[in-house]
Amino acid sequence: MKFKKYLLLISTLFLALILLSGCGQKPLSKQNILDNDKESKTITWGVKADTKLIGLIDVKDGEEKGFEIDLAKAITKKMLGKDAKAKFVTVTSQSRIPLLKNGNIDAIIATMTITPDREKVLDFSDSYFDAGQSILVKDGSDVKKVSDLNGKTVIGVVGSNSVQNVQKYAPDAKVLQLPDYAQAMTALKSGQGDALTTDNVILAGMAVQNPGYVVQGKPFTVEPYGIGINKGQDDFKQAINKALEEVIKDGEYNKLIKKWFGDVPGFNYKEVLRYD
Ligand code: GLU
Repeated sequence: MKFKKYLLLISTLFLALILLSGCGQKPLSKQNILDNDKESKTITWGVKADTKLIGLIDVKDGEEKGFEIDLAKAITKKMLGKDAKAKFVTVTSQSRIPLLKNGNIDAIIATMTITPDREKVLDFSDSYFDAGQSILVKDGSDVKKVSDLNGKTVIGVVGSNSVQNVQKYAPDAKVLQLPDYAQAMTALKSGQGDALTTDNVILAGMAVQNPGYVVQGKPFTVEPYGIGINKGQDDFKQAINKALEEVIKDGEYNKLIKKWFGDVPGFNYKEVLRYD
């Protein structure tokens, strides 16, 4: 009997300890993400997983691969040292901001354009890539430019700014929104729309994966990508900008551009090289 009481006391104390340690966790706004990451020697990045050339899970080894993955790794090492780790969490255009706000990820590096609307809810690093919105169609399609989409159906992805932009350039187009780019491409292939719209660099990757589909015409918007960071994390933001600058200065950035986009039909990598 005595022993049972003793056990009960210990388990109650244990439970209280767990609860207290949970309470001890400071709210995100009171934490210094840079300090946390320095301590753990890890940065947790939100990345795309269905975007060839940029962020894609390789089914052969389950590893994330692409330009943004390599850039995130390079920035992590510049910030926290050679033995630091870049951890990757998959996001979609829709989930990336909520996951950042909830503290599931430290930063978003996921084809996200710096826009005034987004700047109201999060901070951005300096721009790390210059994309532009375009359209992907079946080779031989009579949709040659964005305005040809009036009266037709265009496919886009929820949470991307492309779905709003396209309505300015083709106000009479019907927009079909899908949860991610893999599903959007499947919808285009099954004839649910006449074109798919998003950034040229994402579409170029889809054209590589899907012979018979081409990126049509020149980009009709400017989409500067930025790394998304929670507001109030100025140390973290400054450290990211400094690391990005170093990656550009020492030529690593251009190496990555050539590695991923050097040989992609319909995409001129020379236009996105960076020199300081
Ligand atoms: N860059 C655009 C955006 O930030 C489209 C790409 C995407 O869906 O991530 O919304």
